[in-house]
Amino acid sequence: MRFHLRRAAILLVVTATGILCACNDHKRPGSLDNPKAGKLIITGVTVVDVGRGALLPDMTMLMDAGKIISIVPDGSGLVQSDARTVDAHGKYVVPGFLDMHAHPLGPDDPSAALTLMLVKGITGFRQMQGSPELLGQRRQGTLPISRDAPALLAMPGTILTPFNASNPKEAVATVDEQKQAGADFIKVIAVSPAAFFAAQSEAKRVGLPFVGHLPDGVDVILASKGGIKSIEHLGTGNSVLATCSTDEVELKREIAKLPITEGPPFKIPFLEQIMSSKIRKRLINPLVEADSAEITLLRRAVDTYSEAKCRALAATLVTDGTWLVPTLIRLRTMEFGDAPVYLNDPNLRYLPTATVQSWQDVSKAFTKDLSPFTKSTYRDVYALQLRLVNLFSAAGVPMMAGSDLGGGWLVPGFSLHQEFDELEKAGLSPLTVLKMATINGAAFLGRTGSMGSTEPGKNADLVLLDANPLTSVQNLHKIFAVVRDGFYYSSEELQGLARNVQAHANDGH
Ligand SMILES: [Zn+2]
Repeated sequence: MRFHLRRAAILLVVTATGILCACNDHKRPGSLDNPKAGKLIITGVTVVDVGRGALLPDMTMLMDAGKIISIVPDGSGLVQSDARTVDAHGKYVVPGFLDMHAHPLGPDDPSAALTLMLVKGITGFRQMQGSPELLGQRRQGTLPISRDAPALLAMPGTILTPFNASNPKEAVATVDEQKQAGADFIKVIAVSPAAFFAAQSEAKRVGLPFVGHLPDGVDVILASKGGIKSIEHLGTGNSVLATCSTDEVELKREIAKLPITEGPPFKIPFLEQIMSSKIRKRLINPLVEADSAEITLLRRAVDTYSEAKCRALAATLVTDGTWLVPTLIRLRTMEFGDAPVYLNDPNLRYLPTATVQSWQDVSKAFTKDLSPFTKSTYRDVYALQLRLVNLFSAAGVPMMAGSDLGGGWLVPGFSLHQEFDELEKAGLSPLTVLKMATINGAAFLGRTGSMGSTEPGKNADLVLLDANPLTSVQNLHKIFAVVRDGFYYSSEELQGLARNVQAHANDGH
């Protein structure tokens, strides 16, 4: 059987592990009877115009029923006796943050993860893993998403893997099936190049965006020309680095010799379920099982990196309108899989002990099983990935912020803020990071008319900050309040929600 579990398991998704517990009791009573927020006035606030990078000081904002109604200078006589009024002098208001690569929804109750996301100012997310069940629940309006949660912005069907796209024919059938089931897009991770391109053309034919990883053997240029809408995690695999190498031809020939990801030659009932616990483990950090042939190729790609070649790749991505979601924090938590900063992260207190334990186990394997050569290669790869992000950003490649929460050491909500820090380390300006976290996601989804900026008519999904986000990325962490769908959450209320998640972290485990 030529099925390679490790390749199928690359990156992603631990939602199935029961990462977070069921803790519903913070849900606000009456949210179903009274779904719309009332009037909210915020006075004295500096409005950040994310599109232009400009500040509008001393403004009064009126919101009603989840929309921004007006923004006028303070003292314009905007008084509404029936509105909740908040004094926000000295504060800055930005659009709510969007986590454009996240996996909070799965078989288990997502409330805790969603609450933590809201607490950290995330008002919308692109769910990167779907299922017939989740799509069905969405159709019926029964998704387990309470009011204290960000908005689900888009969701695919089941991710394309060798389990449902083992060959081109099956890949095409799966795309058609997901179109029927109401998927917003197709997400692919590890399939054969033939299945990848067959799925890509079919997605185009039926009008679904096609996004995901670049499996080994899939050339980034061909995927971009074929219309992949967003490349996640800088590709995963070697394709981007190989394309940026002076040894490109030779490296790609070697990559083509790596075992191809193919499904089992016949369907084995329940194989996916039988293997799921193994897969989950590997999803925490697939690099723990790196094979030496791949590491050797990675090393060569790093040693032969050419900025000129990478600029040429960037130009292609810009021309094709291909987006990148680097998820640097996901790459870093994998490539530094046993770093004390993650093992001792104080925010692990929000997670069930069993989840943290499973991450620790994988970390121990990282420490024990990987050679010093492999570890130093990963360190160098990460340093190069930071440079790539800088180069792509400077070249104008459209990019979005995403955390890949669901993977090991990624605490929901907090991990997107870690992503901001990594983007800052890559040398991106505060405004660029802010755009990646707000308006760019709206642009990617084609929804700038309703979200992603602080203007009348837009959704009342906002973050109020204690300090100017245009002077430092660090100021994105200083959350004073969050407005979600017109509902106001003071910092005390946000802290209360987080405490509740912590208190119930181990319920049901
Ligand atoms: Zn992911």
